[in-house]
Amino acid sequence: MDFTNKIAIVTGGGRGIGRAICQKLSSLGAKVVINYAGNDAEAEKTRALCPDSVLVKGDVSDSECCKEILRVCEESFGSPDILVNNAGITRDNLIMRMSEEDFDRVIAVNLKGAFNLTKLVARTMLRQKSGRIVNMTSVVGICGNAGQANYAASKAGVIGLTKSTAKELAPRGITVNAIAPGFIDTDMTAALSDELKQEMQKNIPLARLGSGEDVANTVAFLCSDMAAYITGQVIHVDGGMLT
Ligand code: NAP
Repeated sequence: MDFTNKIAIVTGGGRGIGRAICQKLSSLGAKVVINYAGNDAEAEKTRALCPDSVLVKGDVSDSECCKEILRVCEESFGSPDILVNNAGITRDNLIMRMSEEDFDRVIAVNLKGAFNLTKLVARTMLRQKSGRIVNMTSVVGICGNAGQANYAASKAGVIGLTKSTAKELAPRGITVNAIAPGFIDTDMTAALSDELKQEMQKNIPLARLGSGEDVANTVAFLCSDMAAYITGQVIHVDGGMLT
């Protein structure tokens, strides 16, 4: 795979899976715009791993911030060839205790954030008649999870967004796919108790947590010429959890 002269925007690239995606695309030659929410120190670490990259701090749920991400991309490198909507948060609670604010915030970041950037980037990709969009969903968006009604709803929504935009953009050679990671070793899952982690690991046939690189490898494939005939799909990267 060769991404020389390709320009990628990766949201939530400061840490975790996003960092691994930035690193992978960069190692294959891409210029990378790394978006993150506020953790400057972690974002700087990602930038140090990616030779041709630029950082843009901003909340993807805010359409003005998304315009700024695109503006920085165009000013620094040119029009994006690749968009990876990876930024995501959790605000877990049982439905009876879940606040309206926590429901709205998770939908705003995980789902509306992907909508905001897809809409902006689609305009330039339609003009170029090419492009690759990869959205991060989750196994939880497919099978649900107690305590994660907001998160699961946002990730199920990402699947609907992916399939609809795939159909709209396909005539111009733009592919849109989603990746559904299972249980990946990042800050997001580090917050879970050891007991819950051990319990979850029992349900993974490949008997280990996934790594950011496991997900990043799939992003690279979907963004490559090898995946030119794949669109509107949800690729599971979960060690066999959902089979
Ligand atoms: P993480 O370690 O918590 O990192 C999240 C990243 O998203 C950070 O860089 C964070 O920025 C950024 N971010 C958060 N809110 C944002 C906002 N409003 N605007 C822009 N950026 C924002 O998460 P992760 O585990 O790598 O997860 C990455 C994606 O994979 C998420 O969409 C998540 O739902 C999905 N996923 C993860 C797992 C898993 O097991 N880890 C499983 C399935 C799906 P700061 O660093 O500045 O805070």
